[in-house]
Amino acid sequence: MKTYLDNNATTRMAPEVLDAMMPFFNDQYGNPSSFHTFGSALTEDIEIARQQVADLIGAFPSEIIFTSGGTESDNTALFYGIGADSGKPGLVTSVVEHPAVLETAGYLEQAGHPLGLVKVKSSGCVNMDSLEEQVTPNTGLVSIMKANNETGVIMPIREAAEIAHRAGALFHTDAVQAVGKIPVDVKVEGIDLLSLSAHKFHGPKGVGALYIRKGLKLNPFMHGGHQESGMRSGTYNIAGIVGLGKAAEMARYFIAEEALKTSYLLEKLESGILKECPGAVIVGASAERLPNTATVLFTGVESEAVLTLIDLSGICVSSGSACSTGSKDPSYVLTSMGISVTDANTAIRFSLSMYTSDQEIDYVLEVLPPIIEKLRKISPYTV
Ligand code: PLP
Repeated sequence: MKTYLDNNATTRMAPEVLDAMMPFFNDQYGNPSSFHTFGSALTEDIEIARQQVADLIGAFPSEIIFTSGGTESDNTALFYGIGADSGKPGLVTSVVEHPAVLETAGYLEQAGHPLGLVKVKSSGCVNMDSLEEQVTPNTGLVSIMKANNETGVIMPIREAAEIAHRAGALFHTDAVQAVGKIPVDVKVEGIDLLSLSAHKFHGPKGVGALYIRKGLKLNPFMHGGHQESGMRSGTYNIAGIVGLGKAAEMARYFIAEEALKTSYLLEKLESGILKECPGAVIVGASAERLPNTATVLFTGVESEAVLTLIDLSGICVSSGSACSTGSKDPSYVLTSMGISVTDANTAIRFSLSMYTSDQEIDYVLEVLPPIIEKLRKISPYTV
């Protein structure tokens, strides 16, 4: 039975989203930037999508720029956000950020921007004392993710934004894993820049958005055709943008229902695993987490072996190790929480969505425990 529990990697596109996109692959193939009505009429569809995305995060439509996804939004926020207001060169981010932020930060450090890295507590939550220490009068931008992709731990970004603002820095959040799963409000949380990505909440891949607070001036980051008020040039990915808008509209409507459903199923999965797999540990159990994410350490059993065997049974999950397939490095997210390399290599991430069913959870609870037991017997580690 195919069981897809890897929704933090990507989600299934909602059929309603596909329906909304289809006309733009067929009859409505015009270029929204054209002079003639056949093309230019499509700007209306783009503006509807902009409104739908804005509504999901409490923004004004004029504050939304469409991008190719989370990675582009993160790169842009960091490259162009540092010191956009103040001219201050310093960047502060956390050790558990997605590589789209962390590697960009490393690149910027090489280019001469002083970089401060904020530690996390053993729960996986950002250590606010460490944040206070890293933010200096020289800091131009603070970037802290809203929710972690591996652990699902939700960060106190409102407080983080306050610390940034007190020091005269801008605040960016990578909300790629949070948007569509939990409420996010840019005004309430004091966010200056926010990244989101459609494929994490039942929209298409290759499209996302960057929220840029009204009044904040960033330099144009793609030069050419003057689309997106000259900020991000390039012919509109109209089908993608319409799909993102529809996914945002649906997420706004179903967010509470989906959270209720996934948290019920997650609780069932976690308690079943803890009961049937002695020695299993839920990562970040003491922290506030996304309603859809659980990373479990099956101590004594290497995750690679588990992944291979459950894949044969049609179960799709992922290990806690670095995103790139084939990487055997332990997850830096887990080791930065104080988890040993040996234990980090036993991590499996389960991430659910509104399409996850009771039957799928039952199936995992039927298939997984005997696999763990079998592997434990031949494991070189002891529990
Ligand atoms: N940020 C986080 C927290 C993510 O989980 C991901 C994707 O896994 C990204 C950024 C990158 O987003 P995209 O796949 O849209 O480039």
